[in-house]
Amino acid sequence: MALIVQKFGGTSVGTVERIEAVAEKIVQFRDQGDDIVVVVSAMSGETNRLVALAQEIMDYPTPREMDVLLSTGEQVTIALLSMALEKRGYGARSFTGGQVRILTSDIHTKARIREIDGTRIHAQLDQGNVVVVAGFQGVDDHGNITTLGRGGSDTTAVALAAALEADECQIYTDVKGVYTTDPRVVEDARLLSSITFEEMLELASLGAKVLQIRAVEFAGKYKVPLRVLSSFEEGPGTLISLEGDEKMEDPTIAGIAFERDEAKLTVAGVPDVPGVAYQVIGPVSAAGIEVDVIVQNAAEDGTNDITFTVKRSESDRAKQILDGIQASIGAREVLLDKKVGKVSVVGVGMRSHAGVASKTFKALADESINIQIITTSEIKISVVIEEKYLELAVRALHSAFELGDPDYEKDGGQ
Ligand code: ADP
Ligand code: ASP
Ligand code: MG
Repeated sequence: MALIVQKFGGTSVGTVERIEAVAEKIVQFRDQGDDIVVVVSAMSGETNRLVALAQEIMDYPTPREMDVLLSTGEQVTIALLSMALEKRGYGARSFTGGQVRILTSDIHTKARIREIDGTRIHAQLDQGNVVVVAGFQGVDDHGNITTLGRGGSDTTAVALAAALEADECQIYTDVKGVYTTDPRVVEDARLLSSITFEEMLELASLGAKVLQIRAVEFAGKYKVPLRVLSSFEEGPGTLISLEGDEKMEDPTIAGIAFERDEAKLTVAGVPDVPGVAYQVIGPVSAAGIEVDVIVQNAAEDGTNDITFTVKRSESDRAKQILDGIQASIGAREVLLDKKVGKVSVVGVGMRSHAGVASKTFKALADESINIQIITTSEIKISVVIEEKYLELAVRALHSAFELGDPDYEKDGGQ
């Protein structure tokens, strides 16, 4: 008998029929004698609908009230799924994050889980009930509702699995597992039977939304066996392999990740003196805006251009802040380009292989895609490009690194 934490994402619980199908799946595990804790997301589209409602009232709603609003989506699903289990004659009990006592930091809309109290969950499991927990939410020290950032139900699931010392955490989603890139963009993307934790962390942080990055971090830190699999089809899915697992020879490249919703800000003509980068970036991050790729170019005339990217949704606010300090730091102008995206080639095997960078640049050059910014680390190369070329770039790189599924034609053909 095992304790399994199972998470079902938005599409997997998108309709009442889908919720009934999820209940059927859970029942099968119960019948084998496993203890099950289920984490669910809001029904698909619901969180976006709630965000849009708030924005009808104001552009930047108060984060605290945003959390009160957004947490309602998951509360609907836990109740419906518990009912579907009860209808089938299985004991089930739903809990919001606050009811479990998933204690988080107080940074609304981006809170981090600090501690989970397993007492109520264990008591319900001991009584033979399935425990159904609302993903993506918790409470801070003062009892305020918090949420964990978009995609946060993954993190709830992995953190619960760690706290309860579960035997496995299964993330059920709308694709068969983790692929070499988003299978909705590249048709012949290959399903990976396993991926190293380090690569998954990098893919998630560079935009592959199949797992929220915090979930991967938790899995690594607490050694949670983590698997991504389809809620629609049977199959083994993808195992996120942790250190100590048997290691096969790493292929050079694990996959291609991309981020569509980026924006690029340039503070042009700032004096080339110590402290200027801090003066530019400091106020932006102090406002809680996450700054991504940063580059600085020196001009001949003793000035610099500082360029960086942020999420598109936060770019107007970042521009306002920079406009406000432009005169005091002596910058010539502040430019905002909202039409950029970022593509990244990821692989631990890159460390020992030269030529990955040049192959990346050649693949983009062959498609006449202009590279605006390049950043590299030991296990990734990222480029910022014009947004309209993003999917073309992903496909070009996927095929340049020969990541396609050799069996794709066979499966896909009629
Ligand atoms: P859920 O609602 O189940 O949490 P998400 O939409 O958050 O699902 O994440 C699953 C989606 O992630 C897939 O439908 C797919 O389009 C996207 N995705 C992006 N990159 C990858 C990848 N490398 N492998 C699998 N899916 C990916
Ligand atoms: N419902 C939340 C979102 O759409 C959390 C999640 O689905 O993981 O981001
Ligand atoms: Mg998700």
